[in-house]
Amino acid sequence: MTGLPLPSKKKLGLVIDLDTCVGCHACAVACKEWNAGGIAGPLTDERPYGKDPSGVWFNRVHSYEIEALPAPGAQAASASACSSEESDLLAMLAQPAMTLHFPRSCLHCETPACVTVCPTGASYKRAEDGIVLVDEDKCIGCKLCSWACPYGAREYSAVEGVMKKCTLCVDRIYNEHIPEPSRQPACVQACPTRARHFGDLGDENSAVSKLVAERSGVALMPELGYAPVNRYLPPRPRRAGAVAMQPVASPTVAREEKLEQEQLPSLLRWLDRALSR
Ligand code: SF4
Ligand code: SF4
Repeated sequence: MTGLPLPSKKKLGLVIDLDTCVGCHACAVACKEWNAGGIAGPLTDERPYGKDPSGVWFNRVHSYEIEALPAPGAQAASASACSSEESDLLAMLAQPAMTLHFPRSCLHCETPACVTVCPTGASYKRAEDGIVLVDEDKCIGCKLCSWACPYGAREYSAVEGVMKKCTLCVDRIYNEHIPEPSRQPACVQACPTRARHFGDLGDENSAVSKLVAERSGVALMPELGYAPVNRYLPPRPRRAGAVAMQPVASPTVAREEKLEQEQLPSLLRWLDRALSR
């Protein structure tokens, strides 16, 4: 089993804004492009154009549909007579349906199970900046680390028989051969909405720490005790009241709309209903 260094003051990591991530996968592609040719490469793909493609991706983006939620107590209130102001307020408290894009990569935990479980010392945490890496020359491909990581952040290369993972682009962030503004992880550089931020989360005065404090950033599943360094910024509340704040159509207008709909052919009536949702 592999030991951990003393906790480092410097804790390099990512802050990911779930409010502005649009799920475009630019980060995942940029990561693959940089790391396939870097110290962690090659990042092989198997059956890339087949029915069951698989491969090594350090960064994966998952998208979820979240159903609309009524405001708390809305059902009870609607059962009783409620004023139009109260109805507007309830509509504003409701959660509209939304799509959430969730980028997932190594969180560079402070007490990573993937390191302590490793029987060869291949997985290790750097004392100087907290980055968790794999020494592929020592890896025997036993996959214990991928079983131990609760975040699914390990990537096994079946072609090479070794484990791989996000390196925080360690061969880029300290690389003096590239311009200083580009010394950031490839995913951060590529994100078109600036939803990804990189910095020292051990320094409370760093830009990333201030951003986390300002936006109430959260760690992923802290109850597991692995102390992930990366933080996620939660989505801002959506404007659920937008519909309620629009002027309510008078009964006359509503009746006219209904009449027009009834005059439409059935296919157009269905299309109108679908687009009006
Ligand atoms: Fe290890 Fe998983 Fe934590 Fe990354 S997220 S340091 S792979 S336990
Ligand atoms: Fe260590 Fe490699 Fe086994 Fe993971 S797969 S536990 S890095 S030897």
